Amino acid sequence: MLALRPAAPCDVIRSRLSEYLDGELAPHDRAEVALHLAACAPCARLALELALVVAALRERSASQGAT
Ligand SMILES: [Zn+2]
Repeated sequence: MLALRPAAPCDVIRSRLSEYLDGELAPHDRAEVALHLAACAPCARLALELALVVAALRERSASQGAT
C-alpha cells in the first residue's frame, strides 16, 4: 500500500503529546507532532481527548486559585 507514512512512530508522538499540548516542545518537534496528527487518525483522536482533559483541568484550577 502506498499510503502517506507518518513522519515519526506513533509511540514517539504519543509520548510527546502532553508536552505538545502544554506548548513545551521546540518548534521543530511541534511541527513533527502536528504533521503526524494530520496524517494519523488514532493519534489525532488521542490528542483531542488529551486536550479536553488538559482544558478541563486548567479551567478547574483557574476557577479555584485565581487572585
Ligand atoms: Zn500515530
